[in-house]
Amino acid sequence: MAKVALVTGGSRGIGAAISQALKAAGYQVAATYAGNDDAARSFTDETGIKTYKWSVADYDACKNGVAQVEADLGPIDILVNNAGITRDAMFHKMTPEQWKEVIDTNLTGLFNMTHAVWTGMRDRKFGRVVNISSINGQKGQAGQANYSAAKAGDLGFTKALAQEGARAGITVNAICPGYIGTEMVRAIDEKVLNERIIPQIPVGRLGEPEEIARAVVFLVADDAGFITGSTLSANGGQFFV
Ligand code: NDP
Repeated sequence: MAKVALVTGGSRGIGAAISQALKAAGYQVAATYAGNDDAARSFTDETGIKTYKWSVADYDACKNGVAQVEADLGPIDILVNNAGITRDAMFHKMTPEQWKEVIDTNLTGLFNMTHAVWTGMRDRKFGRVVNISSINGQKGQAGQANYSAAKAGDLGFTKALAQEGARAGITVNAICPGYIGTEMVRAIDEKVLNERIIPQIPVGRLGEPEEIARAVVFLVADDAGFITGSTLSANGGQFFV
């Protein structure tokens, strides 16, 4: 039986590309989403990949959702923590709500989802967890104190869990995409995108969601078992140290 992969936020943007690449690579795939029913419905219609609605920010919903996916497809072997949001504001204007929403989704969401699959992976002595962090967690970004903090936290989480999972056959890795042409990035003012962001990317363009998906397929392979605790930067050569 094909291994089972669960992709959070797997119905749109980078997550949709990841879900499709994993399906093409032969995995059984389930994708979660938060609220955009129309996008989820057309994604399922187009790809045949089943979608499940719950918020990664809700611990109990993650437990119940994972139980449902496992009842439908079997034990989850691969978890891709991709769901993420932005609530940008300069720090002096950032509200506690903007801070909390981003931390709850982009950082606590990883705890909630990984906790729901971890014991099963340990028991079965196999697991692959890939966390989609961000270049802005590596370098920081003005206007994104909340997002940068959460995404940097994802990297610490990845390295700590990699150590805990190592003897149980579980690898935990992070990918830090640079700017990828999804709705999240297309929402940035076009002038800012064209005059400030793209000129900083050495390859001279935004990345494609499929370019991140390919990296996920590589990291979750059976024979990628020696790669754990790693951070893979996929950012078109952007230098940020
Ligand atoms: P999109 O906004 O295009 O898609 C986000 C997906 O996440 C949607 O499926 C959305 O569901 C889902 N989602 C959002 N909040 C929740 C939640 N609380 N629970 C469950 N699902 C949720 O994002 P991108 O594809 O651009 O980004 C994907 C990931 O990559 C994010 O973690 C992002 O931070 C990261 N990233 C993106 C970059 C980029 O340039 N785009 C760069 C670096 C990192 P719904 O459809 O219901 O809204």
